[in-house]
Amino acid sequence: MQVFLAEHSGFCFGVRRAVKMAMEALNSGGEVCTYGELIHNPQIVQKLEQEGISVCYDIKNLKDKKVVIRSHGIAREDLEILKANGNIIIDATCPYVKRAQELVSSVKELPILIMGDPDHPEVQALLSYGGKQTRIIKPGEKPESQMWETLCIVSQTTQKLSNLQELVAQVLPHTLELRVFNTICNATTQRQEAALQLAKNSDLMIVIGGKHSANTRVLQELCKQVTSSFHIETAAELTPDLLNGAQNIGLAAGASTPENIIVEVYNQIFRIKGEPQSVQQIEEIPVYKEESC
Ligand code: SF4
Repeated sequence: MQVFLAEHSGFCFGVRRAVKMAMEALNSGGEVCTYGELIHNPQIVQKLEQEGISVCYDIKNLKDKKVVIRSHGIAREDLEILKANGNIIIDATCPYVKRAQELVSSVKELPILIMGDPDHPEVQALLSYGGKQTRIIKPGEKPESQMWETLCIVSQTTQKLSNLQELVAQVLPHTLELRVFNTICNATTQRQEAALQLAKNSDLMIVIGGKHSANTRVLQELCKQVTSSFHIETAAELTPDLLNGAQNIGLAAGASTPENIIVEVYNQIFRIKGEPQSVQQIEEIPVYKEESC
C-alpha cells in the first residue's frame, strides 16, 4: 500500500498568521477573545480556548476587551461596533480577504456580483462592504438575464477558478463593461491543483479538515470528480470499511487543518491495514509529485 500527501496541504499563510496573532495578543496580557471562530477548525479553536482565548458569538458581550478578528473577516458594521465599544482590535483578517473587501468597497456604487457560498461568513462580510446593487451569486447559479452597462465580479477567496470562469463567460455577452477581480487566493489554487493531481493517481482520497471549512469542502468536491473520496475531520472517523481495500491512498488537507491531525490520519491508515509504519512529523509523510508513482 502507498499513501501520499498532496503538496500544499495544511495551514495556509492566512491561518498561520491568524493563530500567531492571537497567541501574541494572549502573551502580551489581558483578556483575549475572538469574535466568531478564528479559523474553521474545531480542534484548533478548542486548543486556543484551553490556552485562554475564548470565542464570543454575541457582539453585545464584547466591551473593553482585546478582540481578534477571524481570518475570513467580519462585517463592516460589526467592526465599527467593536471599535465603538472600546475594544482593542487585533485584525487577523487574511490579507487576501482584506483585498477582496477593499475591492468591493472601491466599486460599491456599481452593480457587483459576489460569487460564493451565501452562508459563509467571508461572503456575508464581503456583502457588507458593497452597496445597494451588490448581491451574492452561488457557484453554478445562473445569473439574471439582463443587460448590464457595467458589472463587477468578485469571488470568495476559496472558490474554484472554473466557477469564476463560468460566471464570466455567462455574463460577458450581456455586459458593455465587465470588471473581474480575481480574488481567489494563490494558496487555494495551488492546494486544489495538487489535490486533483494526486486524486487522479489514487484509488481513494481522504480529505482532512473542518466540516465547515469552505476550502476543504471544495477539495472534496474536486477529488470526488475523479476518484472515490471522503471528507473527515479527525483520524477517529476512519474505519476499515472506508479504506475498502484501497492500495493507492491520497491525503489532502484544508487550509485550517493542523499538521498533527494529518499525521494521526496517516498513522491510523497503517494501523487499520495492520502495517507497522508510523511517523512523528508531517515532514516524514511522502508528498506526491508528478514523478512519485
Ligand atoms: S485560504 Fe487563502 S484567503 Fe483563506 S486564509 Fe488562507 S491564504 Fe487567506
